[in-house]
Amino acid sequence: MQLQENIPLAPLTTLGIGGLARFYVEATSRAEVEEALGWARAGDIPVFILGGGSNVLIADTGWPGLVLKIAIRGVAQHAASDSEGRSIFAVGAGESWDRFVSDAVRAQCAGVECLSGIPGSVGATPVQNVGAYGQEVSDTIDSVEVFDRRDQQVRELCNEACGFAYRSSIFNTTERERFIILRVTFALTPGGAPHLEYADLKRHFEGRETRPDLAETREAVRHIRALKGMLIVPGDPDCRSAGSFFKNPVLSEQEHEELEKRASARGLSLSAYPALARSKKVSAAWLVEKSGFSRGYVSGHAGISTRHALALVNRGEASAAEILALKDQIQQRVEEIWGVRLEPEPVMVGF
Ligand SMILES: Cc1cc2nc3c(=O)[nH]c(=O)nc-3n(C[C@H](O)[C@H](O)[C@H](O)COP(=O)(O)OP(=O)(O)OC[C@H]3O[C@@H](n4cnc5c(N)ncnc54)[C@H](O)[C@@H]3O)c2cc1C
Repeated sequence: MQLQENIPLAPLTTLGIGGLARFYVEATSRAEVEEALGWARAGDIPVFILGGGSNVLIADTGWPGLVLKIAIRGVAQHAASDSEGRSIFAVGAGESWDRFVSDAVRAQCAGVECLSGIPGSVGATPVQNVGAYGQEVSDTIDSVEVFDRRDQQVRELCNEACGFAYRSSIFNTTERERFIILRVTFALTPGGAPHLEYADLKRHFEGRETRPDLAETREAVRHIRALKGMLIVPGDPDCRSAGSFFKNPVLSEQEHEELEKRASARGLSLSAYPALARSKKVSAAWLVEKSGFSRGYVSGHAGISTRHALALVNRGEASAAEILALKDQIQQRVEEIWGVRLEPEPVMVGF
């Protein structure tokens, strides 16, 4: 293991914000993960696990302990399918997520094509149950290999044990900071049809007579994402973000009714998603825009993407404090007007 000191974290994040890591290790194997954690434990040093840095806001003061970047590579496709005929891929946590999606699509395996273009590492995808365009990783995760910091054991968690829900799992709720994800195993459908349920995707292929294949679906998703500034394109100022800064609120029937009343009092109609069990998911972008924050909104060096109301962007030299101030301003205004508290999606580090 190579221990480094005082490493700038901003270049390791998509927002390009954050101070120094007091200590930094890039672990390319399970043994290095264990060694780094053992070292930190012996010195009582706090640890933060970093993947691709696309879902974090790191404090201007950085991280006072060890930043452990998980860089375990390797994609292994099992020779045999599972009992349901699905192809099994075991993928190192440090692999690029989008590269894995590209490999899966090339191998004609369905199940992750709509998740094309999401930045970051494979190992972070179970953490917030990454999702887009009608798919979530929980649909295809078979199991997750983890290092348990409680008893220093490596174990395999099956899908159900991960407690997946909308943008959540045990990894970012009940068992936060307990597990380090080393490898994720996906079960994909060979020769399966692409998932084309999402309105934007249907619109993209409108008028076509033949059903798009997986590769065309992947390209369509990347194209739609690029139009929204949700694809990392070097030099594009709209993608200096952490993606959506707020989750879509999931409301109870009663809260939803109250919100509808507020909307109709303003002559607006609410854009709601189909009910999630007995709750309703509301568009956070709609709430933000209807609270006076339009795309392209500027607040010092921070701002809102010109193409997506939910992406807070670093307009160049923004500090974490400026991004936080804009986040607070938006949360406060949305709550005042709509009675809904928006919950941030990125992980706040070192605050
Ligand atoms: C332009 C853009 C578009 C995006 N679009 C989407 C989208 O459509 N859908 C969506 O769900 N997300 C989206 N995101 C958010 C982000 O890409 C995902 O959450 C992604 O999975 C984060 O991966 P990462 O490796 O960058 O994680 P990081 O940002 O490095 O870390 C995020 C969290 O996961 C933890 N973590 C990382 N790796 C591990 C590991 N191996 N073991 C344990 N914990 C770990 C970290 O400690 C941290 O708490 C987008 C982000 C950007 C910048």
